[in-house]
Amino acid sequence: MSLIVQKFGGSSVANAERIYNVADIITTTYKEGNDVVVVVSAQGDTTDDLIEKANEINPNASKREMDMLLTAGEQMSASLLAMAIEKLGFPVVSLLGWQAGFLTSSAYGSARIKRVVPDRIKKEIDKKNIVIVTGFQGINRYNDMTTLGRGGSDTSAVAIAAVMNADLCQIYTDVDGVYTADPRKVPGARKLDCISYNEMLELATLGAQVLNNRSVEMAKKYNIELEVLSSLTRKRGTIVKEAKKMEKMLISGVAKDEDVARISIIGVPDRPGLAFKIFSKLSAKNINVDIILQSIGRNGTKDISFTVGKSNLKDALDALTPYIELVGAASIVHDENVAKVSIVGAGMESHPGVAAEMFEALFEANINIRMISTSEIKISVLIDRADGDRAVTAIHDKFFSAETL
Ligand code: ASP
Ligand code: MG
Repeated sequence: MSLIVQKFGGSSVANAERIYNVADIITTTYKEGNDVVVVVSAQGDTTDDLIEKANEINPNASKREMDMLLTAGEQMSASLLAMAIEKLGFPVVSLLGWQAGFLTSSAYGSARIKRVVPDRIKKEIDKKNIVIVTGFQGINRYNDMTTLGRGGSDTSAVAIAAVMNADLCQIYTDVDGVYTADPRKVPGARKLDCISYNEMLELATLGAQVLNNRSVEMAKKYNIELEVLSSLTRKRGTIVKEAKKMEKMLISGVAKDEDVARISIIGVPDRPGLAFKIFSKLSAKNINVDIILQSIGRNGTKDISFTVGKSNLKDALDALTPYIELVGAASIVHDENVAKVSIVGAGMESHPGVAAEMFEALFEANINIRMISTSEIKISVLIDRADGDRAVTAIHDKFFSAETL
């Protein structure tokens, strides 16, 4: 007998029909002789609707009251799902985050899970109950309700799988797995059978929105195998696990991120310490810098370019502009019409020539590269935003053409 944790996202429980569909998945798993703990998100757009409701009343509501409101979404879906399972004739109990033992930090709206004390869950399982737990929530040391941040139910599920030492943690969503590129935009994109935690983390930060980042970090830390799959098609999904246990793919995916802006400081005096001064201004403002490029010094000056998230552009310019004259630079310019396109693959670590192949694909598509950055399992290029989709397709075709199928 196994212990299986199943998490269902908002779209999987959006209406009565979908709730019965999910109830069927759960009770089938239970009938096969497994213990089942289920984590649910709020139905459909409930969380957004609740936020809108709050804004109508008080756009500056305290975070505590926001969490009091938002946790209600999951309370509804958990109880409704339990009612469907009751109707199908199975023993079931729904629990709120605090009843299930989720103790969190006190940061309302973005609380971190400190501990899960699953005594009640265990008791219910001993009684042969299917246990439904509200995702996305817990309780802090003031005994107040907290939420874990948007998309936090994935993390709730992984946390339960970790403390209960579950045999499998399935994350049901409305896509049937992790793809080599966005399947809505790249016709040849295909579903991966498995992917490593590190690759998944890179893809998640690059905007492949299948799993919440924190849930993958936690799964990696506690070595919990995840399966991402669709509650609608019920086909096998994508397994997320440690790279050591799998054949490393040269490239696992191509992703595009448009949430980037480039800043260039032109004519910086070619002296030690200036890069340090510039970037310490940004870190003092908590601004994350991504790709950095410094030109070779010529005539005693050099240019320094880097990228930041779009939401940080204004703050970055405000922090640096008054400083330009002081360090003796000529000017500061920025560009928001850029996109970052990246390939991710655990296999590239030990395989030369991957970058060349990526650049060749861009050259063949006549796309100009403005900046490049690399890490062990990722290569990113900064290009014009207008070229973004074409670049993804060209690179994807290069690495995933018919021969590799
Ligand atoms: N209901 C919450 C949200 O929409 C949590 C979740 O779906 O994971 O962000
Ligand atoms: Mg949701």
